[in-house]
Order: sequence, then C-alpha cells, then structure tokens
Amino acid sequence: MKMVVSDEAALKAMFQHKGASGKLPCMLCRNVVLRRYAPDDMAAPLVLHTCTDESRFLQHDLPSLLNLVRHLEARSTVLNKGQMSELETALGFNRAPLGVLSSETVLDHMDPTKALLYDWMHCYVVGGLFQLEVNLLMGVLAEAKVKMSDLDTFFQQFQWPKSLESKGAGAKKVFEHKKKAKDDEWKSSASEALSAFPVLRAWLDDFRKRPGISEKVQGSIRSCLALCRDLLLLCSTDNGARYANDLRMAIVRHLNLFQQAHGLHRFIPKAHLVLHLATMLERHGQLVSCFVHERRHKELKRFANELDNFQAGAEKHIMREMILCHIDDMSNMDVINEVGLIDAKPATADVIAHVRATLGLGGARPMQVSGKAYFRPNRAAHTGDVVVVAEPESIAEVAYHVAFDNYLLTCVLFYEEVMTENCFRVRRDRVGFIRTRDIKAACIFSEKDGICRVAPQMFEAD
Ligand SMILES: [Zn+2]
Repeated sequence: MKMVVSDEAALKAMFQHKGASGKLPCMLCRNVVLRRYAPDDMAAPLVLHTCTDESRFLQHDLPSLLNLVRHLEARSTVLNKGQMSELETALGFNRAPLGVLSSETVLDHMDPTKALLYDWMHCYVVGGLFQLEVNLLMGVLAEAKVKMSDLDTFFQQFQWPKSLESKGAGAKKVFEHKKKAKDDEWKSSASEALSAFPVLRAWLDDFRKRPGISEKVQGSIRSCLALCRDLLLLCSTDNGARYANDLRMAIVRHLNLFQQAHGLHRFIPKAHLVLHLATMLERHGQLVSCFVHERRHKELKRFANELDNFQAGAEKHIMREMILCHIDDMSNMDVINEVGLIDAKPATADVIAHVRATLGLGGARPMQVSGKAYFRPNRAAHTGDVVVVAEPESIAEVAYHVAFDNYLLTCVLFYEEVMTENCFRVRRDRVGFIRTRDIKAACIFSEKDGICRVAPQMFEAD
C-alpha cells in the first residue's frame, strides 16, 4: 500500500494518532509541540507547531514509530490509567494493541511514514486555512468599516465557466448578506471556496490600491492573497510534482505572512500539516485529495446503512458492492483522455458552410459538432465560455466546436486587448478557428459596457 490520503479523523481511527488533542499534533514529527502545551523552557530539538522551517522537523521513520508503539505497550503494564492517558497525550498516540501500528502483517505492506499524504482539501478548504483566513480578514475589514455588500456586489457581476455552473452559483453567493448571530462564522463548502477565491483575489487586488488603507488591513490582504489555491490545483494534476518547489515556497511564504498579520495564537495545527505537502508531493508525484472520497460517501452509505449487524466480513462485503458499482459506472462512461467533443452531433448545413467558407475547404466531409468539448482531461469549454488560448495567444469566447478528418477545432470570437490589466474588449466580429487543444483554461469573468474582466488564475505550463 503506497499511499494513505485521509482527513485527520481517519488518521485517528486508523493509527490512533491523537491529532490536535495530543501534544504532538503531527503524526510524522517527533519534535513538533502544540504551542498551547509547550513549556516556557522548551529547548531544541523541540520546536513549536508554529515553526515554518521544515528543516527543523525531526520526522519518524518506521523503526522510530514502532519504538513508540512498543514503549506505550511496555509502560501500560506499570502505569495506572491516569498516568497512561497522560503519556498518550504527551506522545500523541493512543496505545492500541489491536491497531494497525501493532500489526506486523499490515506494516509488511505499508510504511505509514512514507505512505501518508495529508489531504490539502481538509487542510485548506474544509474548515481549514481558507475559511480561517477569510473570517479573520472579514473581521479586520469590518473594523475598517468596509461593507460586505461591496464584496457581494462585486461577486454578483461574475460568471463561472458553464461546466462549473453549479459550483459557480454557490460561489457567487458566498458573501451574500445574511442576518447572522454576532459570533457566527463565515462558512463555505470546499468547492465554493475554490471557485470563489479567484474573484475574492480580484476584489482584494482592487481594494488594496485604494488610498488610506491601514497597514493592518494591508497585512491581512497580503496573507489572504498568498493562499496557494492555484498551485494546489496544479499539483493535483498529472506530473504535479514539477511544481513541488513552487508549492514549498508558496506555503512557507503564506504561513509567514499569516503569522505577521494575525499572530501565532491563530496558527492552527492544520497550518503545520501543510508544511509537509511539498515533500509528500515529491514522493507521490501528485497531490491526491479527498474530493472524490467525499463525493462517494453517499454511495458507501447506501450499502452500509442497510447493515445493522457488523459481523466479520461485513466491510469486505461493502467493498465488493462499491467496486461493482464503480465498474458499472466506468463501463457507461466515455473516457476522453485529451481533447474531444462532448455529446457530438452531425453538423448542420449552416455549420458545414461556415467551416468551409472560413477555412477554405472544398468537398464533402462528415463533420461532427458540439457546444461542449474537453480541452484537457476533465476540463470542458462550452459555448459562451471565455477561454485563454495558447495559439494565437489571446482571450476568446467559444462559439462552437467541430470535428472532421483528424481535426478538432473550436470556432471562437477573439476579444481585443485594452490597456487595463486583465480586461478585454468584447468583439463579435473577429471570428476564427483554433485547435481545441490550444485552449488553456476557461475563465471566471465579468462583462460590463462591452469590457470583459477576467479573474486571473494560474494554468498549466506545457
Ligand atoms: Zn509534521
């Protein structure tokens, strides 16, 4: 077993690691102590969990982890219950004689110190660093008398790519004013957080240039803007490991800016966990997150909820049901690895005439057409979407996609560059064809008075 990706609750269930309720909040680090438990006279090699220097972490290997397990076992024969519980809190693990870490069979197949991949989704966008950051920022902005309705109005102007429409609809409303209790936290779902961030970033980028913004507000904004949402997404793609160094630097930079803006007392244990992500990415080649696991929860529960008696073999039985479902799902799916039309239909005479006239093609050839196409695995561009094009380098609106012979082309309306950064003049008269594979990204954008403003995002380099 090469990789274990999970949230903290699952680490607790699998390895009996105490997480943030122990003194050592990270399962991998032997010397990283939660700040609230740290003695005043704490000395090296111990470091606080607020330390952002990865080189100072002393990490477990399998033998050291097994020593810890044996130590807990040996002490359990001489300590009373209270003393034992204290020792477990101090070491960050519970004694579990029947647990995974006590099983030679399991450990023959898995080294947890190498297999672990912290889930960036839970660390950042499920009650994680993103939500914390936005809550702190909103507090600072409220103090500075900034109205949240300003932010909401800005969000209302934006459109998300059609393939993200349901997530975009949620993202659009994240700052909608609701009457809340005073201590009520600002919340968002994980996918709303990811979809909303580029627009929040665009708003903050405008806002910080206004005159008279205090250093305190500027500090909060710098920290928020440093959240590495785009890099995390890039690291989650094939060959994500090529961004490992960028990610390492971006995470450290963000956490340092966070500490400057909000102080060490706001530094949550998850903020330590993300300091491992770059090294884990190098080891595994790609960041895997729990988005898919969370989506499949309901599938699992469909079977598990029917069982009221968990006898030996029940888990195996559920796994079989899950695998059968999965095979069935996959067998009904068109897997498109690179580019391709979605829901293609034979082209109408109008389209055929348009393609022929524009490209100067003669003769009859079968053509397929669609308003939707994949331009990368799982990324779709629809009619009306505004896209970043690599060749010719431009921003354009998608009209339709067409496939004939060995070609897959997209008919686009090229927008015109204007002097303002990230803004383009909407043009309907500059029609052309591009290779669909030259679409780099579908944009989040707003359109007003004939000017399209794109909320910038990083996209994959070739
Ligand atoms: Zn650690």
